[in-house]
Amino acid sequence: NVTVAFVGLGAMGYPMAAHLSRRFETLVWNRTHEKALQHAAEYGSRAVTSVAAAAEADILFTCLPTSAEVAALAGDVISGAGNGLVWVDCTSGDPEVTRELAVRLAGQGIEFVDAPLSGGTAGAEAGKLSVMFGGAESTLEEVRPALEAFATKIVRVGEVGSGHAVKAINNALLAVNLWAAGEGLAALAALGVDVGAALEVINASSGRSNVTENLIPQRVLTRTFPATFKLALLAKDAGLAMDVVRGARASAPVIAMTESLIRAAVNEIGPDEDHTAALKLIERWSKTEIR
Ligand code: NDP
Repeated sequence: NVTVAFVGLGAMGYPMAAHLSRRFETLVWNRTHEKALQHAAEYGSRAVTSVAAAAEADILFTCLPTSAEVAALAGDVISGAGNGLVWVDCTSGDPEVTRELAVRLAGQGIEFVDAPLSGGTAGAEAGKLSVMFGGAESTLEEVRPALEAFATKIVRVGEVGSGHAVKAINNALLAVNLWAAGEGLAALAALGVDVGAALEVINASSGRSNVTENLIPQRVLTRTFPATFKLALLAKDAGLAMDVVRGARASAPVIAMTESLIRAAVNEIGPDEDHTAALKLIERWSKTEIR
């Protein structure tokens, strides 16, 4: 009987751990312990009071803001880990930090792999996330039944760290699409074009993306901007994408500029606002509302 543990019951982790607890004995730990207690009461998981206790499971999941918070747990994980622990990091993390951590943990008999996610909080709640897996094929097979508790698309993209690299580029594409769609639609709005009508036809045309099909209609046109994925996290991901670009000695001026624009939006609009609220900066600059 496989026991799993989940560390980081945030917007993504809370519903992911709920799916796990329907199939496995699940330990949960969260910095703010009340959330772990609430999770246990709601889903029958078991709230533990230390990361070391969580590390006694067979598979340990983490989903924290950045790799810095993940790496900071390593000492506690090492002190609590049983034989053959596999640590699956679902954070949108830093490939470099992850590779270094994997080497350090391997020396302690712990296998560290990366499995960042896409699909948002809606995907996490539905158990229909996509996973970009970085690690050995055999490790993927070992943890696949647990990943399948919350994911419907699981792709191994390479050795440890490569999942994070793919995730960073995916989110850079999200940022580029978001910003470009915002610029284009703000211009149309300023011309007096109805943005809803424009999107109706763009979404049956070649310029469509998840941004035009879902994010802008659901979050911007409604003016609700629900904060399910924080602007600060998108800026972090765009920065990681530029690290990937520099590490490859590649040239990516559009991604570089978009990172800067998203950083400006974090400062002007606020780190905890939803990522789609970045378009409020475009609205200010163009003195028009996207509607
Ligand atoms: P949240 O801000 O909702 O949750 C963050 C979690 O990390 C909370 O459980 C928080 O605990 C915990 N935490 C923060 N700092 C520390 C720390 N120093 N030590 C221990 N625990 C800490 O983030 P999300 O769930 O939105 O995002 C998590 C990761 O998933 C990020 O890397 C993000 O980029 C990625 N992601 C997010 C998506 C989304 O749509 N939201 C989609 C795909 C990936 P506490 O409750 O105490 O604050």
